[in-house]
Amino acid sequence: MDIQANLNGVLSELPLGVSLVAVSKFHPCEAIKEAYRAGQRIFGESRVQELLGKQASLPADIQWHFIGHLQTNKVKYIAPFVSMIDAVDSWKLLEEIDTQGGRCGRVIPCLLELHIAQEESKYGFTFNSCREMLDNGAWRSLQHVAICGVMGMATYTDDEKQVAQEFASLHDFFTMLKRTYFEDDARFKEISMGMTHDYLLAVAAGSTMVRIGTKIFGERIH
Ligand SMILES: *Cc1c(COP(=O)(O)O)cnc(C)c1O
Repeated sequence: MDIQANLNGVLSELPLGVSLVAVSKFHPCEAIKEAYRAGQRIFGESRVQELLGKQASLPADIQWHFIGHLQTNKVKYIAPFVSMIDAVDSWKLLEEIDTQGGRCGRVIPCLLELHIAQEESKYGFTFNSCREMLDNGAWRSLQHVAICGVMGMATYTDDEKQVAQEFASLHDFFTMLKRTYFEDDARFKEISMGMTHDYLLAVAAGSTMVRIGTKIFGERIH
């Protein structure tokens, strides 16, 4: 497994302006160091305990993204250092991130997770529930979160047309949100979509941030 070669292969396919979250969940610190030595600084983790262990033993200039489902009672552990919370899927979670951001004097960057796949999933806003939350307006008074855009996962399928359609729907939704709620907020600019099996389709559909694990680090052993 040549992590540096894999990483450079992925980077060479990303247009300027598309950032890479190297998804290191389930992989050891050694693997992260390998990518770090090649210049990668943004890493994604999906379990709080694992992230805390890695954060404590790896270089301080790593930007950690929390990409998984985050339970509200665990926000406090990562609030002091997390660089972005990529999968905010409820108002309750957003409020708790704001509370914990306040406790450590930070404004925590967040993405709203939209459920765009046909697969069943417990997580992610529907387009409607996301609009309801934003229409409600209470989010405007949160001082310690920055809503920086949207995130979504397409259906896991070989049907490229379907995947492309799902990504296009997220792109359109982002554009509508930007126009309706965030026109004057330069921080709202990210569309995080695209993983190992579909990132080229995501980039073609306007992704600004891909989250790639397997293609860089190899298969995860659970
Ligand atoms: C695991 C994971 C990824 C990376 O998946 P790969 O198929 O290994 O690239 C991306 N996004 C989220 C939310 C994940 O949980």
